[in-house]
Amino acid sequence: MYLNVAEIESAITSLHGAYPGATELLTPPHPTHEGRTTSLLRVGTRPADETDGILLLGGVHAREWVPPDALISLAADLLEAHDRGTGLGYGSSSFTAAEVARVVEGLSLYVFPCVNPDGRAFSQAASPMWRKNRRPAPAGHTGPTCAGVDLNRNFDFLWEFTKKFAPDSKVRTSADPCDPETYRGPGVESEPETRNVVWALKHPPRIRWMVDVHSSGPVILHSWGSDQNQTTTPGDNFRNPALDGVRGRKDDGIGEFIPEQDLKIAVGLAERMSDAVRAVRGVEYAAEAAYGLYPTSGASDDYAYSRHFTDPAATKVLGFTIECGTAFQPPFGEAEEVIREVSAGLLALAVEAPHT
Ligand SMILES: [Zn+2]
Repeated sequence: MYLNVAEIESAITSLHGAYPGATELLTPPHPTHEGRTTSLLRVGTRPADETDGILLLGGVHAREWVPPDALISLAADLLEAHDRGTGLGYGSSSFTAAEVARVVEGLSLYVFPCVNPDGRAFSQAASPMWRKNRRPAPAGHTGPTCAGVDLNRNFDFLWEFTKKFAPDSKVRTSADPCDPETYRGPGVESEPETRNVVWALKHPPRIRWMVDVHSSGPVILHSWGSDQNQTTTPGDNFRNPALDGVRGRKDDGIGEFIPEQDLKIAVGLAERMSDAVRAVRGVEYAAEAAYGLYPTSGASDDYAYSRHFTDPAATKVLGFTIECGTAFQPPFGEAEEVIREVSAGLLALAVEAPHT
């Protein structure tokens, strides 16, 4: 059975209770519209300021039921294996005891499994296909889809899409509160859940990688999602107002700049995750730039990676999105297989990332 919001929370506190020396309980500061707070579990035996961090997000989209369960399961597997001094295996994807120890003792994994608890509760109790959070509908908007914001369009990255993107770019976001899928919200970072993710990127001292786990795909995405990548024209980037109104078109000779070395590392890590996933039971999660799916604005992965370009105090965070499995709510037996795929992929990232 899929975990409900209360069970996710108790799973986090139980893991902290069982492994106090290898975990830390953190509480993101912004309660949701319905007053919920959810915890974030740091897995790592060393102090946070001595270790690089990986931020793992789940449950941003309410109806995607598998990712929160996957993150809880991964944290539990990792902590148990570390405690017993054993390795971990998912199908043919295996990790040695030494690799498990290096992850738990050499990194901090910030596991934030349920970013959008109001949405998950609503999806599980009332409206299975609900995607957004539960911001109350604005005055004068009474339809059943007029509540809520798509949190993955609410981040501070090219959020003002009508100005920033070409009208024919097909950027997938919306300014209409009643859009059931991709309403970007009344303001940039207007949502408490978005601000909790921003907090989770800023507050721990050394986050260097972030994976936002969604469904479904299967696919593994790296930056950018706003336009095609290019490595040759540094001035063609999200900060350049000269690209406003023309951004996001395919094959128009204008792309979003990514330094060649960053692209190489991001592709390498995405492919490493893809390899580990495939070894579980043969399912292919293609590794590709997020723009290949469709152009996006205000998404978490691009926001995470964009921060160091605009804020000299921010660390560089390579952002990824895993779209796991092929359904939002598969029968739980299939969900367990997808959970193993996600676990293998994320563990492969944790093993490989410190070497990049
Ligand atoms: Zn999603």
